[in-house]
Amino acid sequence: MDKILEKAIKTHHLSKMEIIELLGNNNFDNNIFAAADNVRKKYVGNEIHLRALIEFSNICKQNCFYCGVRAANQNIERYRMVPDGIITLAQNAINKGYKTIVLQSAEDDYYTAEILADIIKEIKKNDVAVTLSIGERSFNEYKIMKEAGADRFLLRIETTDRELYKKLHPNMDYNNRVECIENMKKLGYETGTGCLVGLPNQTIESLADDILFFKELDADMVGLGPLIPHKDTPLKNMTADSFWLSLKVMAITRLLMPDINIPATTAMETIHPNGRIIALQSGANVLMPNFTDESHRSQYEIYPGKKSVDYTKLEETFNKTGRTISKSKGFRQKTI
Ligand code: SAM
Repeated sequence: MDKILEKAIKTHHLSKMEIIELLGNNNFDNNIFAAADNVRKKYVGNEIHLRALIEFSNICKQNCFYCGVRAANQNIERYRMVPDGIITLAQNAINKGYKTIVLQSAEDDYYTAEILADIIKEIKKNDVAVTLSIGERSFNEYKIMKEAGADRFLLRIETTDRELYKKLHPNMDYNNRVECIENMKKLGYETGTGCLVGLPNQTIESLADDILFFKELDADMVGLGPLIPHKDTPLKNMTADSFWLSLKVMAITRLLMPDINIPATTAMETIHPNGRIIALQSGANVLMPNFTDESHRSQYEIYPGKKSVDYTKLEETFNKTGRTISKSKGFRQKTI
């Protein structure tokens, strides 16, 4: 194990078998987390990049088995924000000094590429980066939004296990999802992807494949987190017990992709009281504070208990641990 870890620290390359060994043995977890923290410090420094998250619609045409806003869930109130409302929330975040606005929604075709382009152009009148997280669209739609000024796009592959992908995503196509991610790269978006950890019948072999997928793609950001079962979904009987495994997948991703952006995800904080801080000390360098209206926040219930955090208090904690809040847009600086 020591040799594998040493190789990861020195070369940032591991074989699938080596990744499986790290994932399958829990005796060295603290060493892996510490190594990922050192690699983070060496390559992306002590700054934490804040991204203001705006969840602007929970109306979804998809039926992902794990997700609380899936189309078939009739137990939630649906909402769709008007463009001016979205722009106002973005402006609030910009006024507070945020340098990245993340526009996230369920898969809601009401927002055509043209509608989104107008919103993006308005936000981009300010000196900020815009990230989109709105699901699968055509090449042409991604192009329109890129030309409007969008900088980044986030689309998790969720799992690279094709069989599992098929079972969990009715009427969706794994190849199409990969193509969407590749299209973002072609169009010049900073491209983010990631996976869920703790899915039914997910193996450590397939998690190793997920990590190698991120590496092969040369993703600019990787966001991943534990599955948190939602009572109104087919996965309601699963348990939310994958905090440490998701942390390890994240830490190994940092070891193999030293200069990318990695968020400490809300799901990590939700299933562990100090999840975000632990993640920031195990390879993460990004946080995504939620700027969604209070009235809509609870309606964007992809999983239960989604945590909001008081970032003013967190800043004190960061400073104590030598971390500072970045004032830049926080693009990936490729070093290797
Ligand atoms: N619709 C967009 C998409 O598909 O990328 C963005 C919104 S989607 C709700 C954002 C992410 O939430 C998904 O990529 C998924 O990994 C995560 N998610 C959904 N349900 C979850 C659950 N029950 N537990 C943890 N994460 C979940």
